[in-house]
Amino acid sequence: METQTNKAMATYDVVIVGAGAGGIAVASSLLKRDRELNVTIIDPSENHFYQPGWTLVGGGVFDFSQTERETAAVIPKSAKWIKQAVRAFTPDKNTVTLDDGKLVEYKYLVVSPGLTLDWDAIEGLKSTLGNNGVTSNYHVDLSPYTWESVKQLKKGKAVFTQPPMPIKCAGAPQKALYLSAHYWERNRLLDNINIQFHTALPSLFGVPDFVPALQSYMKRYGASPHFNSQLVSVDGQSKTAIFSSNNENQETQMREVKFDLLHVVPPQRAPQFIAESALADSNGWLDVSHTSLRHRQYDNIWGIGDVIGAPNAKTAAAVRKQAPIVAENIIRRIGNQPQLEIYDGYGACPLTVEKGKVVLAEFGYGGKLKPTFPSWILDGSMATKTAWNMKAHLFPYVYWNMMLKGHELLTKME
Ligand SMILES: Cc1cc2nc3c(=O)[nH]c(=O)nc-3n(C[C@H](O)[C@H](O)[C@H](O)COP(=O)(O)OP(=O)(O)OC[C@H]3O[C@@H](n4cnc5c(N)ncnc54)[C@H](O)[C@@H]3O)c2cc1C
Repeated sequence: METQTNKAMATYDVVIVGAGAGGIAVASSLLKRDRELNVTIIDPSENHFYQPGWTLVGGGVFDFSQTERETAAVIPKSAKWIKQAVRAFTPDKNTVTLDDGKLVEYKYLVVSPGLTLDWDAIEGLKSTLGNNGVTSNYHVDLSPYTWESVKQLKKGKAVFTQPPMPIKCAGAPQKALYLSAHYWERNRLLDNINIQFHTALPSLFGVPDFVPALQSYMKRYGASPHFNSQLVSVDGQSKTAIFSSNNENQETQMREVKFDLLHVVPPQRAPQFIAESALADSNGWLDVSHTSLRHRQYDNIWGIGDVIGAPNAKTAAAVRKQAPIVAENIIRRIGNQPQLEIYDGYGACPLTVEKGKVVLAEFGYGGKLKPTFPSWILDGSMATKTAWNMKAHLFPYVYWNMMLKGHELLTKME
């Protein structure tokens, strides 16, 4: 594998920005279709992460090492890796600018840098993260600290937060709560621990079919949901969090909450270099067709993963469906054929409501249910052991060994 860091302008058939779930999956799917394609992936990160596993690390089920591999190990053998960040796009000239100022020229471009976690949006958070019982499974370093903090807490108040949408895996803020509560329940500590869930949303989940099962678990764990309640600042020393919410007259009210454990999910936004580019929509996300995933203005650019400005659930499960469509559409564009307009917004969120049971929410655009299996095999609206086994065993296997390698499981191309 060639790692290029220091040459002048180079030209490639396909350049992929980001070697995360989307970038690697689409590279493999492309090379599976045409092994002769000259594909280059640009990403500064030494390591690639299976982020869906971080919930299980925070719940004491996985070791962190199960979620991490060297980027070099996941880049397809015949692709090149440029170990740098992309700083800017010049789509009219088919070039991207690297952090060192060098240009890379492409015929076809895939944009997949994920999204940005905005830790700074919550005052005082950064300076206390990883200390004072303040943690986040969304932070690359902190899911082990979540598990440590959960085990240490014997009594007091545990507070879990969820910011406004869009966020990646909208169920993950709750998953942290359920797995923690189940640990306290198993260790007969639950009566001593007051659990609160503060969400900026008006309900537990955006798709109503999955709400009753989640409500029953909130009840079982004695957890109180606080809707339309948004974390604005944290003081780690005094273990105090401030939440804002609007009353019936739309007046903003601040509320102080003391905590012993605080699991924070930060607000999330499009990466700055995307938002500032000619490729962004009015909200800063990548402006693609929701069905073909091709850029609306530039017909040699596609997007995949969390960065796209489509109203699907931002999940690795969505990437699994998107990668073959993007790969196929690039091949079609090369062959001057029409684009496939078939992405239906599929995404999936396995809600780990207890250690051993999952509510598997699968849905597409508009909250339309998109179950993979018939209900006699798996009823996604209920907590089941089958779905837990998928989350803990099948999905990681599918991710590392199929999705990242171009084996397109359960993906219809029609
Ligand atoms: C706690 C947690 C739980 C989750 N649970 C689930 C789940 O149960 N099921 C599920 O399906 N999904 C889940 N997800 C979501 C899933 O991990 C993401 O949706 C998925 O990783 C998105 O893939 P991506 O390629 O868009 O972004 P990422 O996988 O985040 O990859 C983005 C890549 O782009 C690179 N990059 C960034 N900026 C630049 C730049 N300027 N230049 C070049 N490269 C750049 C980064 O280094 C990174 O390697 C979860 C996520 C989290 C955090």
